[in-house]
Amino acid sequence: MPKHAVVIGGGIAGLAAAATLADQNIQVTLLDAGSQFGGRTRSIAIEANSRVHQLDNGQHILLGAYRETLKLLAKVGMQEQDVLMRVPLALDVRTENKSAFRLAAPAYLPAPLNQLIGFLFCSGLQWHERVSVIKLITRLKKTNYHLANDEPLADFLQKNQQSGKTISLLWEPLCLAALNTPISKASSRIFLNVLRDTFRHKDSSDFLLPRQDLSRLFAQPITRYLKAHQARVLHNKRVKSITANQNGYTISTKEEQFEASHVIVATSPVRLHNVIADLPRLNFVAEQTESYSYQPIYTIYLQYPSNAMLSAPMLGLTGGLSQWVFDRGILCKQHGLMAVIISAEGKHQNLTQEKLALTVAKELQAAFPQLAKPLWHKVIAEKRATFSCNVDLPRPAYVTPYPGLYLAGDYTFADYPATIEGAVRSGVACADLVCNS
Ligand SMILES: Cc1cc2nc3c(=O)[nH]c(=O)nc-3n(C[C@H](O)[C@H](O)[C@H](O)COP(=O)(O)OP(=O)(O)OC[C@H]3O[C@@H](n4cnc5c(N)ncnc54)[C@H](O)[C@@H]3O)c2cc1C
Repeated sequence: MPKHAVVIGGGIAGLAAAATLADQNIQVTLLDAGSQFGGRTRSIAIEANSRVHQLDNGQHILLGAYRETLKLLAKVGMQEQDVLMRVPLALDVRTENKSAFRLAAPAYLPAPLNQLIGFLFCSGLQWHERVSVIKLITRLKKTNYHLANDEPLADFLQKNQQSGKTISLLWEPLCLAALNTPISKASSRIFLNVLRDTFRHKDSSDFLLPRQDLSRLFAQPITRYLKAHQARVLHNKRVKSITANQNGYTISTKEEQFEASHVIVATSPVRLHNVIADLPRLNFVAEQTESYSYQPIYTIYLQYPSNAMLSAPMLGLTGGLSQWVFDRGILCKQHGLMAVIISAEGKHQNLTQEKLALTVAKELQAAFPQLAKPLWHKVIAEKRATFSCNVDLPRPAYVTPYPGLYLAGDYTFADYPATIEGAVRSGVACADLVCNS
C-alpha cells in the first residue's frame, strides 16, 4: 500500500508537516476547519474608517534561533531578506517620554561576549544589578541552562539575587514575550530552554520581524507549495472523528470521509479532545490537554496620520498596560499604524475594548508625544492565544499508542512554550516519523 497521510489542522504545525511530506513525495491531504489556513498565525481583513485593512491576529516575533521556521520559509521560496527584518538583540523600554531601560548587544562581537557586554552596559539598572544578571547567566551557561526541578520563574529569579527592578524591567517583559505567562506561574525550565537557544550563537538572539502580513508570510506560500507538489489542500473541513481500521484510519467530517495510512493530528490543544474522542487509547492525552489553562494576547491597533513614526520598529513600554509597540509603517508600509501588545492575563481584561483603546492611546501619547489622537482603532483580543506555560505542565509525545498516528502542534514540542518554532519543529518531526515508518 502506498502511504497516504492526512494532516488535520492547517496552522503552522500542520502546514510544516504537510510541506515536509509533500517534499518526500508522500501523498498528503491537509484539512482545516477554518475558512483560511494559518491558524493562530494569520491576517484578517478588517473594515475601519470606510476602508478594508489587512491586520494580523497578533504581532509575531521570530528569533534567529528559529532554524526550522527559517528552513521552511526558504523551502517554499521566501527569502529572509525580502520578508523579515533582522534586528540584532536590542531592548529599548520607555516610560512617559523617557528611557526606562536600554540594552544593545554589540553586533561585532561573538556570542556570548556580545550578550554579556550588552548586559554589562545596559542603562536603567544599577551596577550591582547588572553584575547579578551576568553572574546568573554565567552560572546557567555552566549547566547548559538545565534545571533539575521546575519552579515559578518569579521564585527562581528571587533565589538567584535578581532585584525587583531587574525583574520588572528585564526578566518579566522577556517572560511575557516568550512564554505569554505571568512570572508567578511561568515554568523556569521552559524559560531557560528559550534563553539557552537564544544565547547560543551571535545571531540566534536577533529579532526577525515580519515585513508583510502573516498570511502572506506563512499560509499562502506554503499552500502554493503544497498545491505545486500535488497535495490536496482543503479548508472548511472540520474533522469530527478519527477511527482506526485494518488499513489505517478513517477521518470523518460532516459531509465526507477520508481514508489514510497515516494521520498527523495538528489541531490546537483546545480542539484536540473532540477530534480524538473515538480513539480510547488516547484518553490520557485528552485528559492532559483538558487540564490546560490559556492566556490571552491583546493587540490594539491605532492609526495615526501617515507621517507619524517611531524611532524603531519595536519599542518596549512600562508603567502602564501597554507592553510593546510595533510601528507597522517601518515594518509593512502601513504608514502611521501602531500595534500595541498586551500579553497574558491582567487588569486590561476588565476594560471594554473602547476604554482599553483610549487608555493605550493615552499611554502612547505620554511616551511618544508625536502620537497625538488616533484616527481609528481596532482591538483584536485572542482570548486563548497560547496555553499557559505553567510549572511542570504535562506535554504529550508525538508518538501515540496508535501506529502511524502522530500528534503535532506547539503544545507537543515539549522544550518550548507555544511558539511558531515549536509548532514547526513538531510538524517536521511528525512528518519524518511518517516517512520513516
Ligand atoms: C496573538 C498571538 C501572538 C503570538 N505571538 C507569537 C510570537 O511573537 N512568536 C511566536 O513564536 N509565537 C507567537 N504566538 C504563538 C504561535 O502563533 C502559535 O504557537 C502557533 O501558531 C501554533 O501553531 P499550531 O499549528 O500548533 O496551532 P494553530 O495555529 O492553533 O493551528 C491549529 C489548526 O487546526 C485547525 N483545527 C482545529 N480543529 C480542527 C478540526 N476539528 N478539524 C480540522 N482542523 C481543525 C484550526 O482551524 C487551526 O488552523 C502567538 C500567538 C498569538 C495568538
